[in-house]
Amino acid sequence: MIFGLGQQGTTNLLTRALAAVGQHVEAVPDPVQIHYHLPGISLRVHRDYEQFLAELGRCFPQERQGIRRFYDECWQVFHCLNRMELLSLEAPRYLARMVWQHPGSCLGLARRLPLTVGAIARRHLHDPELLRFIDMECYCWSVVPADRTPLINAGMVFSDRHYGGVNYPKGGVGSIAQALTQGLIQVGGQIRYRSRVTEILTEAGRAVGVRTASGEVYRARRIISNATRWDTFGSLLRHQPLPAAERRWQRRYQKSPSFLSLHLGIDADILPANVDCHHILLEDWQAMAASGGTLFVSIPTGLDPSLAPPGRHILHAFTPSWLSQWQGLAPSEYQVQKTQAADALIARLESLFPGLSQAVELKEIGTPRSHRRFLGRCDGTYGPIPRGKPWGLLGMPFNRTAVPGLYCVGDSTFPGQGLNAVAFSGFACAHRVLADLGYLVPTSL
Ligand SMILES: Cc1cc2nc3c(=O)[nH]c(=O)nc-3n(C[C@H](O)[C@H](O)[C@H](O)COP(=O)(O)OP(=O)(O)OC[C@H]3O[C@@H](n4cnc5c(N)ncnc54)[C@H](O)[C@@H]3O)c2cc1C
Repeated sequence: MIFGLGQQGTTNLLTRALAAVGQHVEAVPDPVQIHYHLPGISLRVHRDYEQFLAELGRCFPQERQGIRRFYDECWQVFHCLNRMELLSLEAPRYLARMVWQHPGSCLGLARRLPLTVGAIARRHLHDPELLRFIDMECYCWSVVPADRTPLINAGMVFSDRHYGGVNYPKGGVGSIAQALTQGLIQVGGQIRYRSRVTEILTEAGRAVGVRTASGEVYRARRIISNATRWDTFGSLLRHQPLPAAERRWQRRYQKSPSFLSLHLGIDADILPANVDCHHILLEDWQAMAASGGTLFVSIPTGLDPSLAPPGRHILHAFTPSWLSQWQGLAPSEYQVQKTQAADALIARLESLFPGLSQAVELKEIGTPRSHRRFLGRCDGTYGPIPRGKPWGLLGMPFNRTAVPGLYCVGDSTFPGQGLNAVAFSGFACAHRVLADLGYLVPTSL
């Protein structure tokens, strides 16, 4: 579900990152962001805002006005963001320029920075079932309910899906990374594949380089880690004491669970002709955040049939799962547990796609162990989630770290998870590093 590939405004950061290296990816507009299948609620989030409000209003007729007020408030956040060039909030000159050029937007954002979605939702909405729906609207990308989801992030997601829209990159999501690497190489960059960094090298407490698993050493004036903070400070900098700022952050944020993923190749005949790409299935509200609770489904071949052979669909289903549930197993036990878990997910999906279990022609199962191994993420985590009620977005760290010369980027920095969010983090980090290296003349800050 790709945000940030829109053509207008300033929040289309994937489009902008690609353009920065002379690239563009062709994308297919998704007319429906999500088809929800929740207890007592079946509804589509249409790309068209009014159509979405009308469909939600039909489920909760007594709340029509409050629904509009709630989502309109999210639009206000989005409009504030979507006027501004989005760069490093750690750069005082940039901040001063934004305040000078967009005083109303900056004030609007500053006022809402500490707020969570839950507080705003309760201001406008009353039906407990509807408030649970808002929890799911947040959970499905922030992996926490509305009370722990910052309003600023929700302003982006709840509005951009109707503005730039959700767009599927032709050829699959990997085409974004491929286009970026091609562009980076064309502008003189180098990429070292299969080069696992095992250590960030320091001298007198300052980050000066990295060592890879093959023993190669790379030195640089600035080091940027795209590994999670837990990996960066717990493993790559393991000879250094954990900085106080990181200890404080770890007290406020914990690792979210990982996922159990099921990749299926299926006979296309069992799906309706215009099947929606993204579905969310939950049978019991109590299980929303539980392991194996919410079931996410993507069928990208509904938007780009070229991804599978003729007459076949790809179906990716995934649900939260903890690494601890997959540890301490003998290889044969691991295989059995994987197969049982996959069969249970397919059985659940029969309620949406009758006949699915008979239509499976290819089945691959990934567990939190796969996420840890192939993505290099501590415990296979999806990313940081607040331990308690957060101060909106104020607790998420920016790109500079307590170790001089070392920056972090990606989903354990402001503003968090999601491709468009980590693209923001990338822009912000590049801006901060260039400013620190003296490459930006003061007028351009
Ligand atoms: C199942 C699932 C579905 C998702 N669906 C969506 C979606 O639909 N839309 C969306 O916007 N977001 C989605 N996300 C979230 C999104 O994928 C992440 O938020 C985003 O990829 C995080 O980007 P990142 O750069 O911070 O980390 P990563 O994507 O994890 O990238 C980090 C990179 O660093 C490399 N690396 C790590 N350690 C080392 C090391 N020591 N040496 C060398 N390289 C290293 C890794 O191999 C990896 O390539 C989904 C996530 C999951 C798990």
